[in-house]
Parts: sequence; C-alpha cells; structure tokens
Amino acid sequence: MSGGGGTDWSQGVPLTAGEWFIGLYQPSPETAGFWDAVQRRELALKWCPHCAKAFHPKRIVCTDCGAEDLAWRTASGRGRVYSFSEVHRAPSAAFAASVPYTVGVVALEEGVHLFTRFVAEPGPIAIDAPARVDFRVLEMGQLLPVFLVGRA
Ligand SMILES: [Zn+2]
Repeated sequence: MSGGGGTDWSQGVPLTAGEWFIGLYQPSPETAGFWDAVQRRELALKWCPHCAKAFHPKRIVCTDCGAEDLAWRTASGRGRVYSFSEVHRAPSAAFAASVPYTVGVVALEEGVHLFTRFVAEPGPIAIDAPARVDFRVLEMGQLLPVFLVGRA
C-alpha cells in the first residue's frame, strides 16, 4: 500500500534504539497522511470541509457534523505549551545522551493537542509559552515533529 504522499510504507519504517532493532513502524491507512506530511517536514491535520474543524489524532468522521469526507491540510505549526515534563532518566541506552529532555503536550492554534518533544530554542519551556513546529530525527531514527519553545 502506498501512503499517497510518495512514501512507501508497505515495508514499514525500521526503528532502532542505538544498536538495537525495535521493529517496523507502519502507519494505518487513517494515519498515513500525517506521516507522509512529516516526511515532507509538514504538520498535517484532518479537517472537516463543512465546519472547518481540525482533528488530531486520527478521525474518520467529524464529531460536529458527522461528515465522512475529512481531508488532510497543513497546519500552521504554531501553538503553546499545554503541559510538559522533563525526563532525567533515560528509558533505554539510546536516550542516555539526550537526557535531560522535555516531552509534553502542545495546544495548536487549530484547537487540537499533540504529544511532542519540546526543545528550548530559544526557551525557556513554560506553560503557555509560544512554540513552533520543527522536524528532527530523534533517538529511534525516526523523523518526528518537535516544537521549539519561545518562538511565536
Ligand atoms: Zn464537520
């Protein structure tokens, strides 16, 4: 199956942690559009064309009007820190060089929330601080959206 955005997910994307192979990541048909956009360094959300409501994570039906023709659209990439937690103990050896790092939830302008990695550029990371999307290859070898905090 092709993801439709040029990335062939049919073989899965290998995830590694240092020298360890964790497994293959293979998006579902409902989430492939999100991951295709990440490969293009874009943040995509599902939108209802009838009430202009954005959704994340995956939805196949609009929770407001019941429409089933939701479509992917690139998000602004701007939001605010909704919650965060600083990780000091690496969950595995692959993360050892990264600690401390910050994870949390960003509230996007579009009204949806996304779990993410926060990067203090320029910082500081604080509740309600402005954040802007960026894309980084993180510890497991996967390109992921992160949010730079302190950038409007
Ligand atoms: Zn709707």
